[in-house]
Amino acid sequence: MTRYVVSYNEELIAYEVRPARKRRAALGLYVYPDGRVHVTAPPRADLNKIHQHVQEHAEWISRQLKKFMRDAAHKISPSYKSGEVHLYLGKGYPLRFEPAADLFNSVDLGAESLLLRLSNMTVMKDPVEVRTLLDDWYLGQADEIFECRLRHFAEILPWVSQMPQWRHAPMKSQWGSCSAKGKIALNTQLIKCPIPCIDSVIVHEFCHLKHRNHGKRFYALLEKHVPDWRDLKRELNALTHQVLAV
Ligand SMILES: [Zn+2]
Repeated sequence: MTRYVVSYNEELIAYEVRPARKRRAALGLYVYPDGRVHVTAPPRADLNKIHQHVQEHAEWISRQLKKFMRDAAHKISPSYKSGEVHLYLGKGYPLRFEPAADLFNSVDLGAESLLLRLSNMTVMKDPVEVRTLLDDWYLGQADEIFECRLRHFAEILPWVSQMPQWRHAPMKSQWGSCSAKGKIALNTQLIKCPIPCIDSVIVHEFCHLKHRNHGKRFYALLEKHVPDWRDLKRELNALTHQVLAV
């Protein structure tokens, strides 16, 4: 079966053409939960027309694919048990639990593990409590690291005159955004991705301060400052399952 590809914004959507059961059938478009996209077409359908049909529905297909991806991510929700690997800056760290020396719970990043020190060791059996503790730690790390990277790029990018207003929050379907007023929002989950990926999202949003849409000039600017943005985008896409909607 031949696979074809259309592009939509920064996504590439692969699809297959299948014969329709009825001779005079209209083109049918199907998106499956495992990410397959099929077009059913009568035997003599014009390939250009099929391609155009898929292109015209690319936004809808993209939305369906993202929805299925989110659903899948929910199904592999973590257990928060000892030894389970959690990501930080692109590296996997197994969780380790230890009794705390005082009354306070804390999380520390070791060379090879994420160490959770608990004032009450029974907490390690409660995934909701462990998750809260870990999420708090991720929030704090995101505050620091994102601020530092934003500041770095605010200083070196010539069209950025001052540190922008920014915030981070968990988002289900995007890594970042830039409002009409130039306020930048980053997905908190980016803290689980490698620094070059975080940087590429930050520069992407900074580029929106100059060019609002994803036009040619936008990509020329992004390319100038992040020449390997396509590879980084691919790396981020590959992390989507693990990182988004967790
Ligand atoms: Zn954008």
